[in-house]
Amino acid sequence: MRVLLCGGAGYIGSHMARWLGQRGYHVTVLDNLSAGHREAVKWGELIEADLLDVASLERAFDGRRFNAVMHFCARSLVGESVERPYEYYANNVVGTLNLLDAMRRHGVDRLVFSSTAAVFGHPVADLIDEDHPKQPINPYGASKLMVERILADAAHAYGLRSVALRYFNAAGASLDGDIGESHQPETHLIPNVLRAALGSGPALKVFGDDYATPDGTCVRDYVHVDDLAQAHELALGYMDVHEGAHVFNLGNGQGFSVRQVIEGARKVTGGEIPYEVAPRRAGDPAILVASSERAVRELGWTPAWTELAPIIDSAWRWHQVQPY
Ligand code: UDP
Repeated sequence: MRVLLCGGAGYIGSHMARWLGQRGYHVTVLDNLSAGHREAVKWGELIEADLLDVASLERAFDGRRFNAVMHFCARSLVGESVERPYEYYANNVVGTLNLLDAMRRHGVDRLVFSSTAAVFGHPVADLIDEDHPKQPINPYGASKLMVERILADAAHAYGLRSVALRYFNAAGASLDGDIGESHQPETHLIPNVLRAALGSGPALKVFGDDYATPDGTCVRDYVHVDDLAQAHELALGYMDVHEGAHVFNLGNGQGFSVRQVIEGARKVTGGEIPYEVAPRRAGDPAILVASSERAVRELGWTPAWTELAPIIDSAWRWHQVQPY
């Protein structure tokens, strides 16, 4: 089975490459290295190409056969998307259309797409299932929802089989410490907490403590990156027997506040986490927690990382060595 991983040099994509590479799949990585890392590509050939550069995309498909594509390339920062929406719609929507068109021309009819909890906007239920209303409150979420819609249309028009996986908050790292999360600049909570613990980053800024949540800070659902990888592999099998466009939410079903993450990290690292309360960040809903029942039932997903502390611990091991 030959799988093209677009964005396979990034955080989730590199864990995917490792997961598939260790299970006997033939992996090819396509990445423009704008956010990905050459050092993270250890399981397969790296093709440097850009989804907005159609000629480079064409070269990637030319002379190669893929049974399926997994698409992780995206701009994915909520706050930045509010400030620079054109970049988000260009990269996430136009880039995906270019990829879909290349797939169609080269006869590749299976796609696993990285979607997001940001498609939902402000939740109207404690646990968000797939049918929850979708009213994104930032361009990032809107761009991903547009692609979900395009995938439904592509199923109808061209017979494309797809699974969109809506990640809640991807977290953690591979336990052998050779790949992990590394963004420049780093904006995500767990890496920023751990960098503050190490003293390799500034004191953590807690973005808002006046939300309508138990301790006033935002609540999120942290899901280990290897559990996400497992769901992607299951999605490949699902598309063998299911036509059409499908969506699944992927989370732990448990919410943790920013303060709870800080407290969890304090226990894991054994040190104080310097932090200060800062204003709210644009585009952040107060609470996002998944119901992943459908993924468990239909994909057969069995997440292994159900507790927050081991997830933080796996990230901590990575951040202490962090080679890139
Ligand atoms: N957050 C924070 N300080 C940081 C980074 C994040 O307080 O340095 C908060 C952020 O406002 C959100 C939560 O932590 O409520 C998770 O943010 P992250 O950027 O990790 O993921 P997102 O939910 O945006 O996908």
